[in-house]
Order: sequence, then structure tokens, then C-alpha cells
Amino acid sequence: MKIFEELESEVRSYARSFPRVFNRACGEYLYDTDGTEYLDFLAGAGTLNYGHNNPLFKHALLEYIEADGITHGLDLHTLAKQHFLETLNAKILIPRGLDYQVQFTGPTGTNAVEAALKLARNVTGRHNIISFTNGFHGVSLGALAATGNSHHRGAAGIALGGVSRMPYDGYLGDGFDTTAYLDKVLSDASSGIDKPAAVIVETVQGEGGINAASFEWLRSLQEVCRRHEVLMIVDDIQAGCGRTGSFFSFEPVGIQPDIVTLSKSLSGYGLPMALVFMKPELDQWKPGEHNGTFRGNNMAFITATAAINHYWSDDAFARDVAHKGNIISERLNRFAEDYGDGSFNARGRGMFQGINCVSGELASDISLRAFKKGLMIETSGAEDQVIKLLCPLTISEEALNKGLDKIEESISESCDHFRRIPREKNFFQQELA
Ligand SMILES: *Cc1c(COP(=O)(O)O)cnc(C)c1O
Repeated sequence: MKIFEELESEVRSYARSFPRVFNRACGEYLYDTDGTEYLDFLAGAGTLNYGHNNPLFKHALLEYIEADGITHGLDLHTLAKQHFLETLNAKILIPRGLDYQVQFTGPTGTNAVEAALKLARNVTGRHNIISFTNGFHGVSLGALAATGNSHHRGAAGIALGGVSRMPYDGYLGDGFDTTAYLDKVLSDASSGIDKPAAVIVETVQGEGGINAASFEWLRSLQEVCRRHEVLMIVDDIQAGCGRTGSFFSFEPVGIQPDIVTLSKSLSGYGLPMALVFMKPELDQWKPGEHNGTFRGNNMAFITATAAINHYWSDDAFARDVAHKGNIISERLNRFAEDYGDGSFNARGRGMFQGINCVSGELASDISLRAFKKGLMIETSGAEDQVIKLLCPLTISEEALNKGLDKIEESISESCDHFRRIPREKNFFQQELA
């Protein structure tokens, strides 16, 4: 462990929550160098929806490497890219009636967001972007301007401009439709909000604390966008690729965003890959205007093609995710009833769920206790108050239940602990006061 402290930058983060040296992983399990097994409810922050080293993709990848397939080719046409595009079109876009052009960006989510924002601004000739409270879109400057989190924003070292923030669904409490507010400011020439090029929105906010927008709110947001001729960008980087139950998180909502960003689980294998979908009339890029050395990671094309072919050729996988999502929500709702004196609440949809423990200190303690029991699970939200379940979608029901049991034990122990030793600002103490 010494070399990490000696040489690796202080910027490291997950390694601090899970201070072990890992060297093997399989399905929903990770192993450290001592051979200790950890059940993975972090799954690369939503990058390993199909588990670690999924054998279905591994063999395809090994064969490709063995045959000297192209590893790097800038954005040259390759057979691997051809097969990926054909599969994406046949299995994902056409069956869903989606007519999109596909842009490969640099292989990070934040680069896909940069491309989406640039495109929206260039096509409309407007500079302003609407993003939402607690939204997370990446940490490069353009995407960071659209991100809410003050810890990340504070590191920019420069004013983050070109974005106006609007309240997300539920931000102002139940019964307040924040899209009506957006509609109002866009209708009022003196609202002080410059007419935007686009809104960028997550259907379920991942880093922001598993805030799931209602379908009505999302439909209303699309209506407001259309009424004011503003583009709608759905950032599906974390919520997409099956996390909420459908390939795109917006499918059951019945909306068709103008632009969609995808990354994280897109390659299926944890290989870096990101893309932007845009309505054909928006594809006004000039050649090479937005480029990047690693656009189109060919090894990722191989595994992404295998992932789509295997999991998205019919609806069996989506049904399985819905089933496991029900198991999760039942248990989380019960936890919320049984612990936290009624202050906890379960949130999210599909296998993108969490439990809000109100106190960040308590949630971090739960995460730490879970890790000691061999379960890796992270927190999210402004105060890190939400325990976020991101297990691989392919997890066995047995392992899922085992993980949920470990979460319950950890919550129970943490609640007991905090009741006995009230700390400053913890919510039990506030309740007692
Ligand atoms: C992770 C994430 C990003 C940024 O992706 P990176 O690969 O970390 O740059 C952007 N948007 C959402 C919704 C994300 O979850």
C-alpha cells in the first residue's frame, strides 16, 4: 500500500473508501491480494452492468486480440466499428423507432457531454444551457459548469459560465411542478434567463443522490423544450444501458430526446467508450470539429457488440432487471420502515436505487461497516447521505439477497451505534433535541 501513498496523487477517492489492493474480479465479485472476496455493489459506479469479465464478451475480445484485430485506429472505418454500428442499429435503435446519428467522442462520459453541449450551442447559435440542481455531468470545464456539486465545481479554478440552474423534480417539495417555473422564465423576456440552446437532464440523478424524476415531469420538460424550441439532452451515461430496466432510461417515459449521451456500461466490459446520439438534422458538425485520439475504442466495439447481441436481442434481460429491481425496492422500503425512526426513504427505479439515510456521517458509517462484511457499496448525494446500490444487473438472486442482508446488518449496527454515541449534527440528536 505504501507506493500509493508515496506516489499517487491525493486526488484518489474510491481507493480511500475501499483501502485494499484488488487484483481479480469475476461477475459480481472482486478479490483482493489476500484472496478476500468482496461482493460488488459499486460496479465501477455503474460501468459494470454486466459484471466483471463477463465470459460472453471475454472470449470475443480474446479472439479479436489473438487475430491481430485493430486496437487503435483513430476514427478510421474498421470491421469492429461496422459490426457495432450494425448491431446498435438493428437491436437498439430500429426496434425503438429511434432515428439518431451516432458520434464517437473521446472515451469518457464527460467528453460525450462536452460534444453534446457544443453541438447544441453551435446548432442553435445560443450559448446558455439549462441544467438541474444536483445534476452530475462530468468534471471537464464545460460539463462541470452543468454539474451542481460544490466539491467538484470548487476545483475548477475559473468561473463556470454558460449554464443556468433550474430546480429538478421534487427539489421544491411535492406538489410543485418545477417545469412550470422553467416554462415561466422562458416565456418572460425579463426573467434574466437567456434563451438556452438546450436543457441537459438525467432521468435518475446518480451522483446527486438517486433522485428519480417522475415520468410526468420528464414529459412536461420535453413539452416545455418543444414550446420554446430548446433542445433536450438526456445524459444517460449512468442511467442507461439497462440500469433502470430498459436500454435507455427514457423509454418507458415515452419521450424522444434530441441528443443522448451514453458511456459507462456501453462497452459492457469496463472498457472506455462514449458516444452521442443526435437527431439527424442536428448533425451539423464539420469534419474533425470535435475530435480525440481515442474516439472509437475498437476493443470496446467488440465487447459492446457482444453485450447488445447477448442481452438486448429480446426482452428477457429487461424483465430480469425489473424482477430484481422489485426485490431491491421491497427490501429498501422495509429498511426505511424499520430503521432511522421514519426519517429514511427508499428511492430510484429499476436496479438504480438507494436509501436516503439523511445524515452523511451515518451513511458513510454504513458503507464502512458493509465493507468490513465484504460488501462494497458507496454513498452519493450532496452530503453523501444516500447509500447507492449499483450491483451488476447480472447478479444472481442469491448474491443480491446476500448483499441486501449485509446492508441491513450494517444499517442496524450503525443506527444502534449513533443512538448510543450521538455526534454533533447527527440526525438522531436533532430529533432528540
Ligand atoms: C459518470 C457520469 C458522467 C461523467 O463520465 P466520466 O466518464 O466520469 O467522465 C457524466 N454524466 C453522468 C450522468 C455520469 O454518471
